Order: sequence, then structure tokens, then C-alpha cells
Amino acid sequence: MKNILSLALFSASLTIYAQHGLEKDIAAVESKVIEWRRDIHEHPELSNREFQTAEKIAAHLKSLGIEVQTGVAHTGVVGLLKGKKPGKVVALRADIDALPVTERNDLSFKSNVKSEYLGQEVGVMHACGHDTHIAILMGVAEVLAKNTDKIRGTVKFIFQPAEEGAPPGEEGGAELMVKEGVLDNPKVDAIYGLHIGSYLPVGQIAYKPGGALAAAQRFVVTIKGKQSHGSAPWSGVDPIYVASKIVDGYQSIISRELELTKEAAVITVGKISGGVRNNIIPESAELVGTIRTLDYDMQKQVNQRMIEMAQDIAKAYRAEATVEIAKGVPITYNDVDLTEKSLPSLQQMAGAENVHMIKAITGAEDFSFYQEKIPGFFFILGGKDPKAGADEYFPHHTPDFKIDDSGLSLGVKAMTEIALDYLDRSK
Ligand SMILES: [Zn+2]
Ligand SMILES: [Zn+2]
Repeated sequence: MKNILSLALFSASLTIYAQHGLEKDIAAVESKVIEWRRDIHEHPELSNREFQTAEKIAAHLKSLGIEVQTGVAHTGVVGLLKGKKPGKVVALRADIDALPVTERNDLSFKSNVKSEYLGQEVGVMHACGHDTHIAILMGVAEVLAKNTDKIRGTVKFIFQPAEEGAPPGEEGGAELMVKEGVLDNPKVDAIYGLHIGSYLPVGQIAYKPGGALAAAQRFVVTIKGKQSHGSAPWSGVDPIYVASKIVDGYQSIISRELELTKEAAVITVGKISGGVRNNIIPESAELVGTIRTLDYDMQKQVNQRMIEMAQDIAKAYRAEATVEIAKGVPITYNDVDLTEKSLPSLQQMAGAENVHMIKAITGAEDFSFYQEKIPGFFFILGGKDPKAGADEYFPHHTPDFKIDDSGLSLGVKAMTEIALDYLDRSK
């Protein structure tokens, strides 16, 4: 019900949309965008190792006369394009890294790249579709560079490495880009980003105002007991038994304490370890898991209750528990006002019937680090073959992941217009 009401509300603001007459320039860049995408797909690089990818991006931006900064957050590339009219600064972001996945698709531009990841030889593949994000944003840069007379302000192009996470022991991604000042000099007023979706048909756009993708926090619970012979538990304190009580108790935080009609939340214990053999009760046990939340008050509540519950349960059974919860990746929170005002641009480009409000996704996206600082809007662009059946798609991060090239042109249109419309509105 809420979804239907909000949709009606958003379409009411259609009138503020401004045409920019870029159809010809956008059409002219389409085949190049597909060519770039295929080239990048064939030559994927892992997080924080996007050296050639960054070179290609930088060379393209420079060829357009865009001011370019390289080596931001290791391999990031930032382009600055000033319009002929004064105004605000809007940023457009594309992530550029690939994944340690061996491609199984039969494509003329299939990746046969191999690399080393955590000491293991792995195949490398753009199995999340970041190749399409790069190509789309390169296309947007080309269209806008030809039309600086239509830009009221400045457009900052952010090509960001390591969205999938930097290798252990390294910093990276959006968090590091922000730390290195990507949102300053000049200060960015608003940011847009998109993610291609292998499950959403070409031509469609999906979005959600507010918490769109979840915050992800890693946690570790360490339970300290007292070691004893497995035959005589009364002479020790069994941390494995206590661990099982905590695993059980944690699910009651979700099911009995959270107002789940407000937003969803997840606690998953993904690893449980302790002990060495059958007849020894060990000294300690450990739980490792992930927390997903879509609302900061709920996140605070979950974190606090997880600490209290682990400590109280442990105490009840004469053990001790310590809980460490990482800050993790924030909520991909679409600024409600910015989302509402940006929708008409998307509706105009895709057709209102092709722009859908969806439910929140419990996956995470590091675009959230920009949104922690400034208003941002992140949406999903359809990449599924329009001829495929309803259930016929291959999930992200898998060897069969596939994106249909015909979806890229809408990405170029959407990002170009959304940026120009923002600057027009904010003058
Ligand atoms: Zn991914
Ligand atoms: Zn991704």
C-alpha cells in the first residue's frame, strides 16, 4: 500500500523535468559504450589492482578535455568537467573492480584472465557487472563534454576501485576515496550511482527511497569457559554449550524485539569454532557472523542487544563472553527528497511504466560511504536479456552471470539527464 501511495506522489512532480536535446549525442555514443564494455569485460582486474582499467578510463577522459586525477584510493580516477554556466557540483560514480570468479559464458569477449588472490590462482571476471558501470560513465562523460553549454555547474566523475572489498590488510573502495577527499575540492553537493541488475529486464529501472541496501557489520563473539575432561563437564565450564545458547538467543532479537514492519534485519552466524577432539571440553569457543540492517536506530538496538545478550547468557552459565562488532559498511540510504526530485528524470528517460519502486535489498554496497557525507541516490538498471523468461537469469558473482549490452544506452541517458536536471534545479 505504502509503495503505491508513494509512487503516485512521485509522479506528481513530473513537471520539473527539463529537456536537454542530447538524443543525438547519446545515440552516437551507444556503440562505443558497448565496445568499451566488451573490452573491459575481456580484461577484468581484481580490487585495488585495476591498473589497466584506470589507464583506459583516464586516457578517455583526457581525450575529452576533462581535468583528470589518477591514483585516488590506489587506482581510482576522478574527472572534473566544468559547465559554461555557474552552479553546484554533482558527482556520478562507477565502481571498476572485478571478482575472483572463472567465467563460464560463451562470449566473443569472454574473460580468460587469471590472477592470484590470497595465494591461490583464480579466474577473474566482471561477475557483478562493474564493466557496464565503467562503460556507461565513460559514455556520459563523452556526451557531457560535448555539451558544456548545457551544464549549470560542475560534474565530477568518480571511477572507484575495490567496491567488492580491498584484499585483507589493505584499505580501499569508497571509504578510502572519501578519506582522500573525493567529495572536496570542489565540494560535491549530491551524488548519483547505479548498479546493473542481471535479474531486471533491459529498459527497466528499480529504486527505493530511504534504506535501499543494508548496512553490513561483521561480528565476533568469544566465549571463555573452563577446560575439562569430556566425561566430567561438572568440573569445567562448557563454552560450546554457551555458544549454542547465544546462537539461539540472537535469533530472538530479530523475531521478538525488532519492529519488523518498519524495516527488515538479519543476524547470521556464519562460522562457529571451538575444541580439538571428542572428549575435551575446550577453554573457549568463537562465533563469527554478519548483521544486516536498513535503519540506524535498529542497527544501534541490534548491536546493543547482541552485546548484552551474549554477556548475560554467558554469565547465566558461568562463562564470559566478549563481543566485537565492526562499524562495517553503512546503509545505502537514498536521500528521500533527492530521490523524489530525481525520479522524473528517470521516468522521462525510461518511461514511467518502467520505473519501479522495490523492497529493500539485504546485500550491501559501499556507495553508502558517500551517502554518509552528502545526499545520494543509487538505483538499479535492467541488464537482463529482454527475450529471457521470467526466471531465466544468472545471479551476480556467479560464473554464468550475464548482462545484455542493449541495456547500457538507458544507463547513459539516465545518468546524463539526472545530473543535468539536478544542476538545473539547484541553480
Ligand atoms: Zn558485487
Ligand atoms: Zn557490484
